[in-house]
Amino acid sequence: MNTPAPGQCAQNPAIDAEPRFVTIPACSNHSGLLTVTVKLHWTCPECGGPRGDTFRTQSYDGTLPVQCDGWNNPCGHIDHYRDVRLEAQANGLNETAQNPAVDTPHAATVHFHPKQQGDAVNDFLAQIRAQEIERETVIAAGLPALQRLAKIARRDTGQAATVRLFLLGLYNGYRFPFNLTALRGLDLDLFTDCLAVLTLDARATVKEVHQYFHNGGELFEQFAEMVMEGKA
Ligand SMILES: [Zn+2]
Repeated sequence: MNTPAPGQCAQNPAIDAEPRFVTIPACSNHSGLLTVTVKLHWTCPECGGPRGDTFRTQSYDGTLPVQCDGWNNPCGHIDHYRDVRLEAQANGLNETAQNPAVDTPHAATVHFHPKQQGDAVNDFLAQIRAQEIERETVIAAGLPALQRLAKIARRDTGQAATVRLFLLGLYNGYRFPFNLTALRGLDLDLFTDCLAVLTLDARATVKEVHQYFHNGGELFEQFAEMVMEGKA
């Protein structure tokens, strides 16, 4: 089952050219979402040497990261995702004649078996729409909650101290590890706002929490100072 196609062995006798599936950004502007899984001959297109083992990594489109596969070829030749997408269109392993997905952001995280292709593209589009709706919902609830919490966090009460620590935990969890049990001491509306902001931070991932504010870095450093001064 792992036998390379006959032609490949003849060309590169020393190499096991068994194709592999890899997940790569579907396009250069992937918005942190758009990946495509393609099948590739596991040989360097420059020299025919073996490609390196894959590892999970992130690709940035300028603003947002997307999880995808990366690899370093032992030969030192670098496979750019752009070139890999073209290779996948041309290598005969991905049914690309009817597959607009390889170089457009409209299908992803699917393996291109021709029968399932239409369904997979539709599923993918539905998935993207669902993610957009979720993101909008999360932002609609999270942003006002974040504004309310930031207002509370400037105050000088026990509840305010907890809210400050919570926001700082999201801002920089290494500097300000937050003890979740502290949430239990919050009034219900503050507790609910914290959960909405946590959801915003975890699911929308458009920005870091302080970036939703004008001069947010300064604001959060003020919170940090209040914590250092032991204001409760
Ligand atoms: Zn090479």
